[in-house]
Amino acid sequence: MDPTRLPPLIRNRHAAHALRCLSGLAMAQIEAETARLTLAFYCINMLDLLGVLDSKVKESEREDWRQWIWNQQISGVHGAGFRPGPSTAIGGITGNETPNPASHCDQPHLVMTYTALISLSILRDDFGKLDRDGILRCLRAAQKEDGSFTPTPGWGESDVRLVYCAFIISYLLNDWSGFDVPRAIDFVRRCRSYEGGYGQTPGNEAQGGSTYCCVASLALASSTYPEAQLSEAEKERSIRWLTQRQTGGFQGRTEKTQDACYSFWCGAALSILGAGDFVDRKKNSEFLAACQFKFGGIAKFPDETPDPFHSYLSLASLSIYPPDVHEESEDKESWMLPKLDPLVNSRVETAQWAREHVPRKGSVA
Ligand SMILES: [Zn+2]
Repeated sequence: MDPTRLPPLIRNRHAAHALRCLSGLAMAQIEAETARLTLAFYCINMLDLLGVLDSKVKESEREDWRQWIWNQQISGVHGAGFRPGPSTAIGGITGNETPNPASHCDQPHLVMTYTALISLSILRDDFGKLDRDGILRCLRAAQKEDGSFTPTPGWGESDVRLVYCAFIISYLLNDWSGFDVPRAIDFVRRCRSYEGGYGQTPGNEAQGGSTYCCVASLALASSTYPEAQLSEAEKERSIRWLTQRQTGGFQGRTEKTQDACYSFWCGAALSILGAGDFVDRKKNSEFLAACQFKFGGIAKFPDETPDPFHSYLSLASLSIYPPDVHEESEDKESWMLPKLDPLVNSRVETAQWAREHVPRKGSVA
């Protein structure tokens, strides 16, 4: 493949975008108030990939962030986990006080629990405060009859994103006793379409994000549960469906326009399936370069407004698929990012920290 001529990856501005979004003022303005912890996850993960957490953020500030995340750990009748942010607490509870039963929002939330575990790993926390058993109880309470999970026990839409969260949490805790795993694997398998992609729920059209969640979930469980392993024929079909999504960058579904986040969802799924060589790194990076916003951040398409979700996922894709940048490109080195673990969705070193420090089965609490 010919080297590609790219403008610089404007790393400093992307880091500034992440820091701006993390600042209290911007956080308060974010519409998705119910997902503040997820927003923090994308911003902190972006700073980790850009390698600037130590240089651009003071230790005292990182300590504040750790503390803020721990303040979202709550426990209640259905177990423990992390909530989206303090504003979901009607009546203003903090820390480990009993959640308000009147608020379905102020409950441990599976997505937030996953993003908290990774964010705390990026911040190199020792996880001494983690309510491990409570989290396992929460996973059990959130599983439905059909094997899927609701975001909080007994409430919310269930789809494969939540299955991925339940699986990655179990993987990091090294403990799959929290729920009925074969039933969850069966749910994932029923989301598979005839084309080899996966939908959000059984019978739905295949989509790049849900295909990532399913492929990653099966890979996470496969060493303990042989029924999670895909056959060679199944893998081949999924690889074909995923590679067909690349039209420059990647589209999320057949006939849709390309969108930066699918460079991660489809690209990471291909990497997990051992088919990264099928990705055209040149076209992928050219599209993502065009999505850069001149004042920092990466948007879903060129000339759009950036956000932390698309910014982080674009960097994550570039980390898995570094472009072969032409010698004459200005600031060629800017495109070199540290390696990403596509299953955990963090830097390799951070994923390793999580595996070593999140209290595992059999470890002394
Ligand atoms: Zn997108």
